[in-house]
Amino acid sequence: ESLTESLDELARELDRAHVFHSWSAQAQPSSLVVASGLGCRVWDHAGREYLDFSSQLVNVNIGHQHPAVVQAIREQAELLTTIAPATVNLARGEAAKRIVSHAPSGFHKVFFTNGGADANENAIRMARLHTGRDKILSTYRSYHGNTGAAVVATGDWRRIPNEFARGHVHFFGPYLYRSEFWAETPEQESERALRHLEHVILAEGPSSIAAILLETIPGTAGILTPPPGYLAGVRELADRHGILLILDEVMCGFGRTGRWFAFDGYDVRPDLITFAKGVNSGYVPVGGVLISDPIAATFDERVFPGGLTYSGHPLAMASIVAALDAMESEGIVANARDVGDTVIGPALDDLAERHAVIGEVRGVGVFWALELVADRETREPLAPSAMGRIKSALVGRGLLPFVMDNRIHVVPPCIVTADEVAEAMAIYDEVLSTALEGEG
Ligand code: PLP
Repeated sequence: ESLTESLDELARELDRAHVFHSWSAQAQPSSLVVASGLGCRVWDHAGREYLDFSSQLVNVNIGHQHPAVVQAIREQAELLTTIAPATVNLARGEAAKRIVSHAPSGFHKVFFTNGGADANENAIRMARLHTGRDKILSTYRSYHGNTGAAVVATGDWRRIPNEFARGHVHFFGPYLYRSEFWAETPEQESERALRHLEHVILAEGPSSIAAILLETIPGTAGILTPPPGYLAGVRELADRHGILLILDEVMCGFGRTGRWFAFDGYDVRPDLITFAKGVNSGYVPVGGVLISDPIAATFDERVFPGGLTYSGHPLAMASIVAALDAMESEGIVANARDVGDTVIGPALDDLAERHAVIGEVRGVGVFWALELVADRETREPLAPSAMGRIKSALVGRGLLPFVMDNRIHVVPPCIVTADEVAEAMAIYDEVLSTALEGEG
């Protein structure tokens, strides 16, 4: 056995012995070792190569090991690795200025957090203090993070064992493929989902509601691109009742949809924007809240009762500056849009024509979902056992997939090339042909 193979085995042994993993039963260890990466690819110690069509947790927008970002972190580390949040620091101001430059008019301030969950946590806090109201409305099909209010705002199964925060109410957002509203067209889905939300607002008491919190495009829940008019309709309902709109751009922001913010693709303007992931592609943990002027002004004279030791950490700040500058100068957001429109979208449609197991293809930019079904007529989700086989077969053929419930999310870095997409498509194609053999 070679030295590199034994490093992979050592990594697995240490992991099994001592590492406690997220969202999982600990007796079922993962065996995938990753030791290094570059661009859209990662390798284990022995040199086994994987094409990363997950962007890890849909966060490595700029690709692995972008040299300018690595260099910026190295330079900042040599200058000043850490400093308290109350201190003025140039890297922090430069990072905030760049984030603000991509926001709509009327946004000038950024509060930095350690990640996406605490970004939502603090946006919720700001909304409650600004409005003097309590309730937060969010959708059943959503993920907002693992902490106190964020996990209870979350719509999926992860909320249920964690319901210790109060003041959260859920509603159904639009999802035409599995409509809660018997809708047959995007227009019906939009109109009826808005009517449902209006009824929830009225039933809860509009004057008790601080904010509606939405992922602009729900990500983990299925890349549920909203139908025409929906987000504008939510904005209108919020305005009518003095309710704030928080858009969670943690997964869909910073290039993922082929735009700087996903909401740039829709006719809507939020009051608070939460971000993390793509802002620096996760090279150093960071997130934050972009705050519109009236909400920022609430805290001009009044103390904001929130803070973090690592708010605006210099290594994170330097990585944001370098990542956003590289995304701008290398046209990385435009690449996500072009590759999505001209390569990924058509290739997935083509895949769906050849594989009856694909019930729906939806998405934009480098943010796509294949919804797999046992039967196209009934739309019955493909069984977990079959999804498990598909996932292992993809990894076995050297592709890191993002698999969630009965879906494959096709979410490569924003720098992905047409050749890499073609390579991935050949793997999806082969796996969908072979992994389901013998399936009823
Ligand atoms: N919001 C959305 C939309 C997310 O997708 C995630 C993470 O997947 C989060 C919030 C939480 O971010 P973090 O894991 O950085 O706390």
